[in-house]
Amino acid sequence: MSASSVLVINSGSSSIKYQLVDPETGDAIAKGIVERIGDAMGLIKHVHGDAVTEEEIPVPDHTVGMREVLRLFDTEGPTLAEAGIVAVGHRIVQGGRYFDGPALITDEVRDLIEQLCPLAPLHNPAHLKGIDVARKLMPDVPHVAVFDTAFFQGLPDKSALYALESETAEKYSVRRYGAHGTSHQFVSQEVSRMLGRTDLKQIVMHLGNGASVSAVKGGRPIDTSMGLTPLEGLMMGTRTGDIDPAAVFHLQRVAGMSVDEVDTLFNKKSGFKGMTGESDMRSVRAMIRNDDDPVAQKRARTAMDVYVNRLLKYVGSYTAELGGLDAITFTAGIGENDAEIRRELAEALAPFGVKIDGEANKVHSGDPRVISTPDSSVTLIVFPTNEELAIARQALTFA
Ligand code: ADP
Repeated sequence: MSASSVLVINSGSSSIKYQLVDPETGDAIAKGIVERIGDAMGLIKHVHGDAVTEEEIPVPDHTVGMREVLRLFDTEGPTLAEAGIVAVGHRIVQGGRYFDGPALITDEVRDLIEQLCPLAPLHNPAHLKGIDVARKLMPDVPHVAVFDTAFFQGLPDKSALYALESETAEKYSVRRYGAHGTSHQFVSQEVSRMLGRTDLKQIVMHLGNGASVSAVKGGRPIDTSMGLTPLEGLMMGTRTGDIDPAAVFHLQRVAGMSVDEVDTLFNKKSGFKGMTGESDMRSVRAMIRNDDDPVAQKRARTAMDVYVNRLLKYVGSYTAELGGLDAITFTAGIGENDAEIRRELAEALAPFGVKIDGEANKVHSGDPRVISTPDSSVTLIVFPTNEELAIARQALTFA
């Protein structure tokens, strides 16, 4: 363990995820989650080395949740003093137009995060709860906000703006903010380093439960698929991704759905979940393999075709925007683990000289790796994302 560590906190509406990171080695010294905050019974899990502590106790609010986290560090280790904690990094979903990088949390910064709540009504209020209680309980270290949108504040207007009537767009802050920016920035920088080139034209595919793709040229973002909210872009576990906005009017007029019902339908009941009944990629793969249920099998295969076709469309349009393409990198749960997705996409790109190395693609590993052949027109890479490490490193700059 090196001398210093950073506590990374991701405070959600009913959960607090945390990780104590060694920013030099990238190791997670300890990590855990407090879940079901506000329910009759909360669930806490703390992992330190091989020791796993699980407790079911009432966690009525974030203050109690955070106190429990600090108690577990004290009793199960490592104590934060022992670990040499030098900063706390808070993951914040929406930084709006205010933040194009990490920010030391002062009362002013806290107020700006609060002002942005209408743009992220589920996330920013929950982050504020985490910030307030953590600042109170750990007043002696700098608290740093790291925004999911910051990297994409560098987008050019031509990809950040919608062709919406300007006055309305400005008045109500309707534009592309993107999301997963910490991951896209981290992975694109690491890939540049890995390939030893600063002038790369690259596409990063962050394929998790939520999924987004970005185009990065010479280290700067050119475009990204998530928009005003994380709904836009790729098909996801439970989200539609791109859909004609007129589908909203249609469902309101014809099906009599309310705004909230359409919101829930598009964000929580669509994507793989809506098309197959399962949101998890592993379950969808299992349905495709299961010859005993041909109806479900066909549904799952169709959903997968829609998923891959959407990826393909983005590769095409981003290659045109980038003026060429050097590398495609796959990251997050699906990108790192699902060799079939990578193979299917690469095969669809074969007419453009993309060649995947079948054996390298099948390797299961937590290591960054090239999975294309040496003569492929585009280098295909798997690079595990590490948002906690990226947040810890950014927080460290204020320590
Ligand atoms: P998030 O952080 O958005 O919740 P993750 O990055 O953890 O998501 O990714 C979750 C997704 O990764 C799920 O769809 C899960 O099925 C998929 N996944 C994880 N492991 C595998 C695997 N071995 N094969 C295929 N998909 C996987």
